[in-house]
Amino acid sequence: MELNILTLCYLIGSITFILGLKMLSNPATARKGNLVAAGGMTIAIFGTIFLYEENGAKLGNYPWIFAALAIGGIIGTMAAKKVKMTAMPEMVSLFNGMGGACAALIGFIEFGHLAKGLSNGGVIHTGMLSIILVGLVIGSVSFAGSMVAWGKLNGKLKDFSFPGQHIFNLLLLAIIVSLSVYLVVNISPENVYLFYVIAGLSLTYGVFFVFPIGGADMPVVISLLNSFTGVAAACGGFLYDNKVMLTGGILVGAAGTLLTMLMCKAMNRSLSNVLIGSFGGNKSGGAAAGSTPQGNYKEISLNDAATVMAYANKVIIVPGYGLAVAQAQHTCHELEKYLEEKGVEVKYAIHPVAGRMPGHMNVLLAEADVNYEKLMEMEQANDEFKSTDVVLILGANDVVNPAAKNDPSSPIYGMPILEVEQAKTVIVNKRSMKPGYAGIENDLFFQPKTSMLFGDAKKALQDLLAEVKNV
Ligand code: NDP
Repeated sequence: MELNILTLCYLIGSITFILGLKMLSNPATARKGNLVAAGGMTIAIFGTIFLYEENGAKLGNYPWIFAALAIGGIIGTMAAKKVKMTAMPEMVSLFNGMGGACAALIGFIEFGHLAKGLSNGGVIHTGMLSIILVGLVIGSVSFAGSMVAWGKLNGKLKDFSFPGQHIFNLLLLAIIVSLSVYLVVNISPENVYLFYVIAGLSLTYGVFFVFPIGGADMPVVISLLNSFTGVAAACGGFLYDNKVMLTGGILVGAAGTLLTMLMCKAMNRSLSNVLIGSFGGNKSGGAAAGSTPQGNYKEISLNDAATVMAYANKVIIVPGYGLAVAQAQHTCHELEKYLEEKGVEVKYAIHPVAGRMPGHMNVLLAEADVNYEKLMEMEQANDEFKSTDVVLILGANDVVNPAAKNDPSSPIYGMPILEVEQAKTVIVNKRSMKPGYAGIENDLFFQPKTSMLFGDAKKALQDLLAEVKNV
């Protein structure tokens, strides 16, 4: 009877994961989707703790389990509450790394049991050992890679590479695979140590795999590592014949893979190019190719900016990383409402990699209650710029850089961008002429139809709003 209830718990868990994922695809239902999936996960976890039985015995170890749950729960809640939106990719990376570590630890524990049985004269099931090794290798790579990604995103670690690193990485990977196959075929008490060698090499591979990848490619890598963790967790599901772990792992693996592919598409690059190239190796503030100032730019006063916007028929706002840093989304929404009251049509153009995480701008604007209907994806926005009077760029840089279209030597060449220069007037708000994330100069700022409105996005928008009210 209890086993049936447990199966039901797992079924509910699996269904809520799928429903939650579906709901995450729309900003209006995303928050609820997260809660639905978390609810399902809670049911699955508590079902396992209280209902799972093996050879008639329950899990036991309750003080350990609940102490671990409490510690993890408290740290996770506090970290999630404290994290700034701009630091979300770091946090995702850190949490993902923990998932990879868990999957690898499952490998350690289960291999330990198998090795004990082996030394007592038992035999090891080849299929089981293979799954343990796959989980161990992928989980370790995901853990080590995610830790490096976390360090790189929060600026504690710098990009690092050496000549021939990609060959070194491929060689390392080949050794890991060969040793794993050898161990599965020739497992004996004498070569049990190879398991730990494989674990060490996988951790090393994870470090060397992520270290050379350029700054602006980190979101793609994080998403890829996320899919690795999913696959590693699914291996745990196989191992324990646990359906909900299997479903969860497969969903994370598949979603991570799809997101990786979508992000590569958004940047118009292949995955191999992301992994082997070093696009955006210079992080924000660092000088990269073509980063010398390219001529004169003109500034616009708040009063002129307010006037040109208040008398426009159509204004498109392009939000970017700077808007998130300044936490100016609410003021931005205020400005949008005032302009609309004055009869101006206002929309938002969202680039798929604007900000620092997938969907960053959508989340930010949703937080300020901006109507989703006003948000345009890149393709739609690019069709509309031609008929737009004013484009107001708020703390965006790389996603509107025409070098992506015009300059084959640019590190971002090939990335589709928001073609804002098609509008009649372009106003760019940022604090200085410093480059964005990819560390490269932006020719848009020097074009005749572009004017710079310098200042912190929140302050500039507050001042602009006051001026618009006076127009
Ligand atoms: P960028 O990083 O290219 O540019 C942001 C600009 O905002 C900077 O030039 C900066 O200029 C300005 N800025 C910073 N703070 C403020 C502030 N308080 N007020 C006003 N402006 C400010 O941002 P984009 O959104 O255009 O592009 C995103 C970049 O990040 C892409 O290269 C993308 O590949 C990368 N990336 C994307 C991720 C994602 O998943 N979306 C994740 C990680 C990276 P100044 O200093 O002069 O103010």
